[in-house]
Amino acid sequence: MSVIYNFSAGPAVLPKEVLQQAADEMLDWHGSGMSVMEMSHRGPEFMSILAQAQADLRELLQIPDNYKTLFLQGGGLGENAIIPMNLVGRKAQPATIDFIHTGSWSGKSIKEAKKYGTVNVAASSESTGFDGVPDPSTWNLSADPAYVHLCTNETIDGVEYHFVPEIADRTNGAPLVADMSSHILSRQIDVSRYGVIFGGAQKNIGPAGLTLVIVREDLLGHALPICPSAFDWKNVSDNDSMYNTPPTYSIYIAGLVFQWLKRQGGVAAMERANIAKAQLLYDYLDSTDFYVTKVAPQFRSRMNVPFYLRDESQNAAFLSAAKERGLLQLKGHKSVGGMRASIYNAMPIEGVQALVEFMRDFANAS
Ligand code: PMP
Repeated sequence: MSVIYNFSAGPAVLPKEVLQQAADEMLDWHGSGMSVMEMSHRGPEFMSILAQAQADLRELLQIPDNYKTLFLQGGGLGENAIIPMNLVGRKAQPATIDFIHTGSWSGKSIKEAKKYGTVNVAASSESTGFDGVPDPSTWNLSADPAYVHLCTNETIDGVEYHFVPEIADRTNGAPLVADMSSHILSRQIDVSRYGVIFGGAQKNIGPAGLTLVIVREDLLGHALPICPSAFDWKNVSDNDSMYNTPPTYSIYIAGLVFQWLKRQGGVAAMERANIAKAQLLYDYLDSTDFYVTKVAPQFRSRMNVPFYLRDESQNAAFLSAAKERGLLQLKGHKSVGGMRASIYNAMPIEGVQALVEFMRDFANAS
């Protein structure tokens, strides 16, 4: 088979080495005579897999001791309900939740949170087509919200925060809650600047089914009575993510990805590689008017690069010619159209080079 590069936004490309190791261990994990899928989650084999994955994640993100890492289910959209159910109880009801609306995913979070609190959209870039993050000095924040929700990488719109907003003194110290589904582990972050970091695994970590929550300890223990016990973070934390059966196979693969990341030099090395990959693609996009990008340069995502053909009647021809070159899943999200190249950690620079070469050839031939 010739080389294939997969630009899917998620579920997405995984490191070949990881998939090979999983294949080798599929029928018999480390001489146990069992596949990881067949093991009791409470047996010593799986317990060791979970403990290693937790430890490696903590090391990779340098997670401070006063934060818990929870391995849950429910995905990013599940968290849109689980987060307010865990956090609004810190304030008198009905509590206010502040949101920064920068694209489709923060939009969905806003919609869901309305079931649990009074939503204040403190800033929105909707009127300018989600082309960036409004300047924090213009955010119309509440005086004492339960929390402030951001989506730090909008997977569909291609907007990324390259800064952490300093807003504690305007919000009575409200915790920042960040949806990092599509860029977690792609860049170094200072976990201590956030109250909660969450994300589905199926973009930059591993298979669908696993949802990560990194939460500061003082934010545990405030769940509303209606919160399902399996989603009460305190419960999950007290039981080391074993309150109910966790997504064992997804955790195992995520653990293999964490080890792969460590072998690559960790998150700092990944960030350097991701900057180089994104620059290659954006430099080409900026050099031609055959393709169009809409996000302001300082907010461009390094992970998800949406672009449009100026002549959209060529979209189908572009996608089929790309496929012939082994460049897969470049179609943009149906809500925004156009194209999107997702270039997560596991996408090698050779994949981005092949994409740019193809895009240039396609433009020249048209
Ligand atoms: N947030 C972001 C930033 C996402 O990219 C996605 C998935 N594309 C979600 C939330 C929703 O995740 P899930 O499908 O796992 O519920």
